[in-house]
Order: sequence, then C-alpha cells, then structure tokens
Amino acid sequence: MQCPFCGTTLPANAQACTNCDWTLEATKPAEPKASDAMAILLSIIPGLGHIYKGHRVMGALILLLITPTAIAFAILAAIASAGWGILMLIPYWGAVMLHVWAIDDRVTQKPDEGEQY
Ligand SMILES: [Zn+2]
Repeated sequence: MQCPFCGTTLPANAQACTNCDWTLEATKPAEPKASDAMAILLSIIPGLGHIYKGHRVMGALILLLITPTAIAFAILAAIASAGWGILMLIPYWGAVMLHVWAIDDRVTQKPDEGEQY
C-alpha cells in the first residue's frame, strides 16, 4: 500500500507512515460514536443533545427560543387544521436530531495542539 499523504510505499496493513505523520486511525471513516447516540436520545428535548455535545450556547438557543417558537407555530397550525398541524413538529424534531448527530463533539475532541510553541 501507499501512504495517502506522501505516497511512501508501506507494508500492507501498515498502521502509520514511516515518512510523515499519517496514521490509519486518522483516515478511517468516522463511525458514529456513543456520544452521538446519546445526543440524539437527549434531543427528545431539543437542545439537550447540543448541550451534551458541548455546544451550550446553541443548545440553550434551541431549548429556550427555537423549540418554544416551533411548538407555538405547531399549536397555531393545529388549531387551524383540526390537530394535524402538530405533525409539523415531527420534521423539526428530526432536523434537530440530525443536526446534533452531524455537529462535532466538543467534549471528546482533542484540544488544539497547534498553539504550544
Ligand atoms: Zn506518509
């Protein structure tokens, strides 16, 4: 195999490059972490998942501002449509859960080591 960074020929199943700082771990496709599942679960109350992942400002905004607004609109729509408007909340919940899955986890992220010199 070849190093995907510098092209150095490496033994098959090499875990790291001998010429640069490439490692197999770094280029693996990102698997869903345990914290992703937990964040999605917490998003049953939208915003909690974001707070769990370390995005406190965004989580508080979703929890205290965006979700009450979405619920208020859904209730208004429900009144106008004999209850069906409440279904508007389902795609909203889905979007919140999808977003919390997609954003970076600030809690388990390695600190930036580039500023130490
Ligand atoms: Zn390399």
